[in-house]
Amino acid sequence: MITKQFKLSIELVPSTIWYVNLYNHYKNNNQMEKWHQLKQYLFEIERKHCWVCKKEERNLEAHEFWEYDDYKHIQKLAAVHHLCDLCHKIKHIGLWLHSIDGDKMLHQQRIKKEDIIDHFCKVNICSVADFKKYEERAFVQWEQRSKFQWKQDLGIYHPKFGLKELKSQQRLVN
Ligand SMILES: [Zn+2]
Ligand SMILES: [Zn+2]
Repeated sequence: MITKQFKLSIELVPSTIWYVNLYNHYKNNNQMEKWHQLKQYLFEIERKHCWVCKKEERNLEAHEFWEYDDYKHIQKLAAVHHLCDLCHKIKHIGLWLHSIDGDKMLHQQRIKKEDIIDHFCKVNICSVADFKKYEERAFVQWEQRSKFQWKQDLGIYHPKFGLKELKSQQRLVN
């Protein structure tokens, strides 16, 4: 098995914990201003650059980076960073390359599936065959993880901590 880590990786969320995330937590609790504050903070520290490929973009999407403890089945929110459209589509590749909803949205956005795969290959300096192999492995892992219920840990992003707390915590980490 190839263990090479790609700079731009696929991050499939187990189906048993789909839609349970920080964004939806704020949305369901009428706290979207907190999400906007977080995005504002990301613009302050990361400027208008994609965190992975460094491309400069006006519209960046905040992506939640999760870590998985495959023994205790805990999904922990490790970080939130701004990504460009194509890097973000790689993260959620199940939607964008393998679903009817994704097909419709790509059509509306005039983006081809090949554009997404090309972006992966460019950022990671690899071939389409490398992508295919890696994607297949990502789905095997996703199927395995989707067999379990996951406990979620929002870490320093937990709403009980304010943005001020988050900033000081991040200073300690960085
Ligand atoms: Zn990017
Ligand atoms: Zn995302």
